[in-house]
Amino acid sequence: MAKLEIQPVSCLRDNYAWLAYDRKEGVCAVVDPSEAEPVKRALAGHHLRLTHILNTHHHPDHVGGNLALKSEFGAIIVGPGKDSARIPGIDVGVVEGGSYAVGSHSAQVLEIPAHTRGHIAFWFEKDGMVFTGDTLFAMGCGRLFEGDPPTMWSSLSKLMRLPDVTEVYCGHEYTEANGRFAITVEPNNPALTTRMAEVRAMRAEGRPTLPSTMGLEKKTNPFLRPDSPEIRRSLGLEAADNVAVFAETRRRKDNF
Ligand SMILES: [Zn+2]
Repeated sequence: MAKLEIQPVSCLRDNYAWLAYDRKEGVCAVVDPSEAEPVKRALAGHHLRLTHILNTHHHPDHVGGNLALKSEFGAIIVGPGKDSARIPGIDVGVVEGGSYAVGSHSAQVLEIPAHTRGHIAFWFEKDGMVFTGDTLFAMGCGRLFEGDPPTMWSSLSKLMRLPDVTEVYCGHEYTEANGRFAITVEPNNPALTTRMAEVRAMRAEGRPTLPSTMGLEKKTNPFLRPDSPEIRRSLGLEAADNVAVFAETRRRKDNF
């Protein structure tokens, strides 16, 4: 089995939809299509026919293209079973412990609530990739619209158990802004300063900063590093538990 091929599709202002496809098998999924037109142009440009739509959560900038793409291609829409009422055109609702296969490429479903209560990730274990929507970003995490800090910490901890080599595909190009915040709480993390220099260079050339990897996120993402002594010192929370450190990091980012 060949690995899924991936193409980013820039949508709206800073969203990414992701094409994930296997030409030999004739399957092509789009993850979180914000809008139909850029996805249609990308499909035509790469001579692909859409077979599946995978949604991580219900926000309009992740499902806005669902119905137009479904009516044009007859694509099957797969999304969070616990939020199926909010996913336009959903055909298959999936839950924790379940899986869904695009051709022979099987994705395990991880429920990772807090940004929304139904948020899921699709983990293609054999392909070594995870689609994290708006829960885990490069050097950041999503806002807590429908969940509290303990819930988000538990969701992020679930992703941290994936292998370090797992490629991370998220829903937005927020990396540079996230990194500017990260440096304020952990200025002496050499992996972080190195990464920020790379990210700035990529953005200066207009290139996507994704995918990341779980290993890189664990070294540089402050929301995955509540046990970092430097972050704890920055926040004045040397003796707090990880959830409290995570919650304070999130609160500061909200006000950054
Ligand atoms: Zn969202």
